[in-house]
Parts: sequence; structure tokens; C-alpha cells
Amino acid sequence: MTIDLHTHSSVSDGTASPADLVRAAAVAGLDVVALTDHDTTAGWGEAAAAAEEAGIGLVRGIEISTRYRDAGVHLLAYLPDPDDPSLRAELDRIVVGREDRVPGMLARLRELGIPVTEEALAEVSPDNRVTGRPHVADLLVRLGAVRDRDEAFARYLYDGGPAFVDRYAADLVTMLGLVTGAGGVAVVAHPWGRGSAAVLDEAAFADLAGAGLSGIEVDHLDHDRMARSGLRGIAARLGLVVTGASDHHGTGKTGHDLGSETTAPGQLDRILERAAALGSPTGLVGRERR
Ligand code: AMP
Ligand code: ZN
Ligand code: FE
Ligand code: FE
Repeated sequence: MTIDLHTHSSVSDGTASPADLVRAAAVAGLDVVALTDHDTTAGWGEAAAAAEEAGIGLVRGIEISTRYRDAGVHLLAYLPDPDDPSLRAELDRIVVGREDRVPGMLARLRELGIPVTEEALAEVSPDNRVTGRPHVADLLVRLGAVRDRDEAFARYLYDGGPAFVDRYAADLVTMLGLVTGAGGVAVVAHPWGRGSAAVLDEAAFADLAGAGLSGIEVDHLDHDRMARSGLRGIAARLGLVVTGASDHHGTGKTGHDLGSETTAPGQLDRILERAAALGSPTGLVGRERR
């Protein structure tokens, strides 16, 4: 049983369509895959249809941009009601914030002598429903300013970098309430990766568990062996679910192949049980056929 609970499609900053992503997951031998595009459920329908056809389990999720004690934290929300009005309103606010900062980032790049335009950006990523720095990175690649996304981030787009513009992110504790209120299961993504490691110590996880957090993404490429063992200990002490996932972004990010990090079946069962207990109307697609 191979389970990968964190992937992105071209609806956000991955490179494959939701249907192609699900088919690729089946080809890669996954039994269950979660689609977790940034801040949107727009890919869910297409992914669900593809999962039914490919005979693979699909967990519908979202990777939500939040803030905790001034640090950016990515929160995975599994199986929330996509029509919950309060959750939708906050996701819409994040997506608007993403769009609002694009002109500022492009203006900074033009000041640095790179002739970027909004029209060219739209051509680079015609399918995406949310805009992120990776799309700007792809534009820089297309213009020959950098070799790949990594170089674009390293030179221009990193947090605080010359072309970086901050954006709205939801308060993490508030978002935990919104996700669980919509029947969703909340898991902190790559907590000890970029940015959030300094604020997410054991006391913080205890605080978050009290606010509705269900799990920690432990097995992620951004975590070395020490980080994983530390996080596993915290999860065990706090009774939190432990997940692992590739954080696949298609060809946009190397080292994140589908199934390269995985979640144990018993941990997925805990997520599904928690979703049921929270009254989630969003079931797992497809897996019951096996
Ligand atoms: P944004 O969502 O616009 O704030 O951009 C952040 C996203 O860019 C993250 O979710 C990552 O998927 C991606 N990212 C961050 N650093 C890099 C990097 N060095 N190379 C490629 N993608 C990155
Ligand atoms: Zn991403
Ligand atoms: Fe993330
Ligand atoms: Fe991600």
C-alpha cells in the first residue's frame, strides 16, 4: 500500500493537470494520492473523475497559506467541505492576496532590468487558478534570465529577496477552526522546512493540537533525519497523526517524485476516521473498489 498525501497540479504551481497528475500517480504505483493545490479546491472535480477511471484512491485536500507568530506555515486540510462558506471566504481572501502582489513583483523585476509583463506571465501558466512565485520563476526561465525555478528563487524570489513581495496569509489558529468546522483534517506541512522551524516547537504543537490540529507531515524532503526523529517524538507525545509525502510539483521542482515519501496505511485510516468524526461530507474517492 503506497500512499502520497501532498501533491500539486497546474491548478496551482505544479506542472501536470489534475487528471494527468492522478494518472501519473497510478502509473507510479501509488494506491492513494492526495491532491493538495495551494489555497484552492478548483482541481478536485477533474482529479476525482480521473481517480475513478484509473482505479486509484484520491484524497481531496488543500495546502493553505497561514501565518503563526510571524512565520509562514503551510497547513494541509484533508477532506473539508469545499462549499463551507467560512472556509471558502478565507481561501478567496488568500487567492486575492496572491493576485494583488503580482504587479509589485513584476515591477521590481523590471527595475532590475528584466522585461517581464503580466501578459507574458499569463502565457507561461494558462491553467493556474492561483498565482505563485513559481509562475514568475517560469517566466524568468522563459526570458532566459535564469536556468530554472531554483535559480529564480535563489537570485530573485526567495523570502525577502529583491523581487519578493509579501502577501496575505490566514491566521493559523483561526484557520484550524475553519478547517475542522468544515469537517476537514488539519496537518501541518513540512513544519521544520523553510521558515516555520523557529516557531513550531513542541509547546507550539501542543497549542495547535488544542486548536484542532490532527497531524504533522514528518517525512518530507525538507526534513533531515534529525528533524524527522524530533517531529516523530512530538507527534507520539501529543497523539498526532504522522504523515509523509512527496510534495510533488511535476517537472517544476526536482527531487519530489510521486511516492518518494509516503504515509503508513494506519495513519491514513486515522485521518479518515477523524474526518468522519468531524462530519466531513467529502469522502475518499475510489479506494473502496480494492
Ligand atoms: P508562493 O506560494 O508564491 O509564496 O511561493 C512559494 C512556493 O514556491 C512554495 O509553495 C514552493 O512550492 C515554491 N518554492 C519555494 N522555494 C522554491 C525553490 N527554491 N524552487 C522552486 N520552488 C520553490
Ligand atoms: Zn507549491
Ligand atoms: Fe508547502
Ligand atoms: Fe506543497
